[in-house]
Amino acid sequence: MSNENKSIHEFDFNLICEYFSNLERQGPGSHEVTINALGFIGNLTSESQIADIGCGTGGQTMVLAQHAPGIITGIDLFPNFIELFNANAEKLNLQNRVQGIVCSMNNLPFQKEELDLIWSEGAIYNIGFERGLNEWRKFLKVGGYVAVTEASWFTEERPAEINEFWMDAYPEIDTIPNKVAQMQKAGYIPVATFILPENCWTENFYALQVSVQEAFLKKYAGNKTVEDFVANERHEAQLYDKYKAYYGYVFYIGKKI
Ligand code: SAH
Repeated sequence: MSNENKSIHEFDFNLICEYFSNLERQGPGSHEVTINALGFIGNLTSESQIADIGCGTGGQTMVLAQHAPGIITGIDLFPNFIELFNANAEKLNLQNRVQGIVCSMNNLPFQKEELDLIWSEGAIYNIGFERGLNEWRKFLKVGGYVAVTEASWFTEERPAEINEFWMDAYPEIDTIPNKVAQMQKAGYIPVATFILPENCWTENFYALQVSVQEAFLKKYAGNKTVEDFVANERHEAQLYDKYKAYYGYVFYIGKKI
């Protein structure tokens, strides 16, 4: 890939894509957590219409497809991720009911009340939790479910260093009761809420990035943007290790009423 005539922003886009394409998941999670969340969702049949929004390369989508009936549409903004997503679906022989399309979560391609379930792991922050829950609701049938993971505070107060990090990265991070209240206000019954176990971040997310980071630094030796990007990812992992008592991802499952 030539970087001539590319703005840093374009390079970052490709860089982030390339980096995360090397991983099964692009956010914290696990097979067990996806299956546990699915356990709260009733009434799915082979006719059910499911959307996985911000699906990435489909780590959680394929688990979903293997444990739930229905037709799944994966939505992601990054064409490379959708290419890998569709290749993964084919590898698992799921292509007849799992399809990825390139589209923004701000402008979903569904009809009003078309969906039985909206899934979104580690992605709703791109539109914002409250806005996403409010805007996506119209696509759900009455009685349909939404299941999303979202960065949340575990305590009312926290050390300044981690507070500042999140205020800069995603100021919408909030406590679990506040997020549940937002879900209720958006017109959902809050069916279940649970904190993702630490291994979703450590073993399943940050640990898998170590070899990708080393390969990246080698491939792009001397490239300051890459060095900064990797340093950034490492810093994030260190912060998690230091402050994991104060924040994490939470699964929020709601039912449209
Ligand atoms: N659900 C996956 C990926 C989470 S990372 C997992 O848990 O592994 C967040 C994903 O949101 C990325 O794949 C990114 O490409 C996607 N994304 C970012 N902005 C988006 C937007 N506006 N519309 C759709 N997808 C978006």
